[in-house]
Amino acid sequence: MPLISLVVPCYNEEESLPAFFEETMRVVDAMRAEQGDVHFELVFVDDGSTDGTLGAMRALTAAGEGRAEVRWVSFSRNFGKEAALLAGLREARGDYVATLDADLQDPPSLLPEMYHILLEEDYDNVATRRVDRVGEPPVRSFCARAFYRIINRLSDADIVDGARDYRLMRRRMVDGILELGEYNRFSKGIYGWVGFKTRWLPFENVERVAGETKWSFWGLLRYSLEGIVAFSTAPLSFASLIGVVLCLISIVFALVIVVRTLLFGDPVAGWPSLACIVLFVGGLQLACLGVIGQYLAKTYLETKGRPLYLVRERSDDDGC
Ligand code: UDP
Ligand code: MG
Repeated sequence: MPLISLVVPCYNEEESLPAFFEETMRVVDAMRAEQGDVHFELVFVDDGSTDGTLGAMRALTAAGEGRAEVRWVSFSRNFGKEAALLAGLREARGDYVATLDADLQDPPSLLPEMYHILLEEDYDNVATRRVDRVGEPPVRSFCARAFYRIINRLSDADIVDGARDYRLMRRRMVDGILELGEYNRFSKGIYGWVGFKTRWLPFENVERVAGETKWSFWGLLRYSLEGIVAFSTAPLSFASLIGVVLCLISIVFALVIVVRTLLFGDPVAGWPSLACIVLFVGGLQLACLGVIGQYLAKTYLETKGRPLYLVRERSDDDGC
């Protein structure tokens, strides 16, 4: 009997978890009634929540009995959604594994359709993308679109605009993802990088059922810059290119100055513009050093080889 694992990263989702569980169980029961030969496990990852999320997970372990095996791991602190997703994928034992958010923004009601596609067609995973960004501040939508345009220009990995982390994968794809042991994880890039056959399922954006988004504008900006650094070395080439272009410009300027001096003598002029040029070039050099510094910092973090997360407790400890 195929096992479907549902991996759910949770950070302060005490309020959303009951609604999530109820909706997911409705879908699980329907699929089991229709299909008969599938069973489910729910893998919750508590990403160092400071509210009652862990307690809520504990309660769900019993509530799922007879319908789906509920397991959970709880981190020693907040390590971020990427780490939580990785932990969930490592814990999942299913032949099929889905990752979905706890706030019902990734509707579990799409699962039957996703599963059918994998059963009937030759795909390795069914991924979802939202067709609109309803309910999102316009500035955030604009920046998100710009980010996807830029990163797709810069990177080989195909990173789809509006793609959510919600997808149902076959075991072979999950194993592929787990082989990527990098420290700076950017899921959207990793999915694109590992390849495999992806079928896209569009759906309309839904607002979260309870609580608030964990992403601030600056948090998102930092995350997107990390994505670029993790999946493209184009900024490094760009920095060298600027250097070469500036050298060429300075050679042309030098020629102009030599010719002008020979023809018209050497009246002292142009000090303000000189000061501007010195400032401009100095700034540019620092900016390029900064770009190199970003890559160096990432390399430094990779070489330290620290674990991406530490587990404080897990449901197996409770004897479940
Ligand atoms: N999340 C997490 N760790 C974090 C931030 C978020 O595990 O540090 C989880 C969160 O509980 C939710 C999912 O990641 O299940 C998506 O988070 P959120 O809804 O805040 O993001 P958005 O949907 O606004 O992009
Ligand atoms: Mg959300």
